[in-house]
Amino acid sequence: MRAFKPHLRDPKPYPYEPLEAPVKLDQNESPFDLPEALKAEALRRLARLPWNRYPEIRAEGLRERLARLLDWPKEGIVLAPGSNLLILALALAAQGVLDLAPSFPHYAHAARVAGTPYRAFPLGEGFSLPLAGLLEAFQGGLLFLPNPHAPTGTLFPGEALGALAERAKEVGGLLVVDEAYREFAGVDHLPLARENPHVALLRTFSKAFGLGGIRGGYLLASPEVARAVAEVLPPFVLPAHTGAILEVVLEHPHYAQEAAAYVRKERERVYQALLSHPTWRPLPSQANFLLVFTPDAGEAFRHLLARGILVRRQDHYPGLTGAIRVTIGLKEEMEAFLRAAFEVAHA
Ligand SMILES: *Cc1c(COP(=O)(O)O)cnc(C)c1O
Repeated sequence: MRAFKPHLRDPKPYPYEPLEAPVKLDQNESPFDLPEALKAEALRRLARLPWNRYPEIRAEGLRERLARLLDWPKEGIVLAPGSNLLILALALAAQGVLDLAPSFPHYAHAARVAGTPYRAFPLGEGFSLPLAGLLEAFQGGLLFLPNPHAPTGTLFPGEALGALAERAKEVGGLLVVDEAYREFAGVDHLPLARENPHVALLRTFSKAFGLGGIRGGYLLASPEVARAVAEVLPPFVLPAHTGAILEVVLEHPHYAQEAAAYVRKERERVYQALLSHPTWRPLPSQANFLLVFTPDAGEAFRHLLARGILVRRQDHYPGLTGAIRVTIGLKEEMEAFLRAAFEVAHA
């Protein structure tokens, strides 16, 4: 086959194997579906939409709403069906991509697909930010930084982000802070982005807003950055139905704050409980998951799955030997997880 670019001829599948289990804690989804009343309202709006018509070319209505809500210029907002697509668009537009290792795998994947020069820096001691290396390597292009970080759940200190933002400005690059888990840490990088056009933020409706299946995310950036990203995306990229649903949740965001508050509390409870495990070690987390180090990730994974609990192995990442990742689910799901976890100790 000679139709495709050489670097796309032998693609590696996305490292995710869908498995069925009664307790699903493998994708960092919200355990809560949209509240009934909001779902009913969204369905009424879907029914009223003319399905034969194209949606707005660049989701103008939603961008205006977000602009008012966040006090951010509409020209600096790009909406897409999922922030993964924005990551791909950013990587396509970028002169180069800097990343952490480990990090959210889609950054590396997007850079590879885009054929964009790519370099990743291993996390430092205790999964800290390798600040010196990043500052030196950041000569332009863009740096993807999830904060809280995935897959560790660590929140990087504000001063370090400030230094990277300054560096981005100095070299004319772009620091992209991926805020997918921000609600679970109570952080907001808007102030950093407001004062520096070389900082852009990625947000998603897939986590705290509980809309993983609906596909919605947005970029907050300078008008110049937003124009470059929008140029890469096709017109009408946000489906009318996704737009209608996002409109409803932006009118009633309270449920997402409640969901995030629940997750934070339950995360601490499960973390504390795991501290008395004889062999498993949880890492403190500011996200909606816990990274847990076990003597053998494959064994831990199979042990949990045999008890109906699906988690995600993370031991393929550098420095994460033995690690599994557990999404914070409903209370009864976490009880089932803890029961199974402590059974392994007595096996
Ligand atoms: C879940 C997640 C996203 C969300 O991607 P969507 O395409 O919006 O669902 C983005 N970044 C990180 C780091 C994530 O973990």
